[in-house]
Amino acid sequence: PTGLHPRYRFDSFIKGASNELAASAAMAASDAPGTRFNPLFIYGGVGLGKTHLLHGIGHELHRKDPSLRIVYLSAEHFMNEFVTAVRNNQFDEFRARYRKDCDCLLIDDIQFIAGRDRTMDEFFHVFNALYEAGKQIVVTSDRVPADMPGMEARLTSRLNWGLVADVQPPDLETRIAIVQAKAERDGMELPAEVCLTIAELVRSNVRELEGALLRVTAFAQLRGVAIDKAFVESVLGKRRVDKTPITIEAVQKAVAGYYSVRISDLKGKRRHRGISRPRMVAMYLCRQLTDSSFPEIGMRFGGKDHSTVINACKRIAALQEDDEELRGAVESLRGQLAS
Ligand code: ADP
Ligand code: MG
Repeated sequence: PTGLHPRYRFDSFIKGASNELAASAAMAASDAPGTRFNPLFIYGGVGLGKTHLLHGIGHELHRKDPSLRIVYLSAEHFMNEFVTAVRNNQFDEFRARYRKDCDCLLIDDIQFIAGRDRTMDEFFHVFNALYEAGKQIVVTSDRVPADMPGMEARLTSRLNWGLVADVQPPDLETRIAIVQAKAERDGMELPAEVCLTIAELVRSNVRELEGALLRVTAFAQLRGVAIDKAFVESVLGKRRVDKTPITIEAVQKAVAGYYSVRISDLKGKRRHRGISRPRMVAMYLCRQLTDSSFPEIGMRFGGKDHSTVINACKRIAALQEDDEELRGAVESLRGQLAS
């Protein structure tokens, strides 16, 4: 189908905890379009695979039934088409294309039309026509429906009718799997240690990960050298090169020193604010600066439950908003630990 990227298929999409729900829902929607997960709304930060999944649905539907009329386009493109149709008096064609001659509508980056009244209005009617005809609708966005200023309430509500699924930044294991898969796809064999190093240094999103892999392999080729851990670090690693990764112990020691409390207090149970505040800061920094999971951090703080750690992290993140002193403490500790 037109507009679909040949590479964005389900079989090249790596599933992990961070995207499990969205990926499974995308597959389910292409197994039984227009039924349970309709509309399907996928949201999350940039470079996390939303567009890839959207195209994957299109490819999969087409594979199963080539007669299906699949329409993929970005919300921006939708708006441009609409404006052109209005200007050229081709509204009937426009209406036919999106409301009638369409079995599955895949709309990317819907947040774009928030605040554009006439486009929202038109999309509303397209949505209703397709939904009532039992056609599958899939929409992506960089945030949840309720969080789009300028989006009409009736549209927001419809976008919430089906399943709303998020994509999160990938964890370490998923990042490693993605690097391995991309390298393999390009016919390269990278040592496990190299994949690990790239995955450790690039944490933000998958697009960055792809860029990093390309940079490493291109540089190696240009310089005619083999790719090993040290080479990867020299290409990518300004920050972490030759530095040992930050450990939970290091965080606990720094926080204890900063607040003049004992490490055993951080691991203990005392609720007194002079202790519980440093403890929460320590948990927060462990989560931010190490690769440790919530349960692991809990364990290393005297066997606490993962929910305690999650709450501490949320608390510190929220408190920092208007507590300048706390913000200063966190920044100072972060700097101390990173140097
Ligand atoms: P978004 O639309 O969320 O900004 P994209 O779908 O454009 O992100 O993904 C950015 C790049 O990362 C694309 O090249 C895509 O193929 C790749 N990508 C994202 N997530 C995955 C994944 N889980 N497995 C494999 N490739 C992925
Ligand atoms: Mg996208």
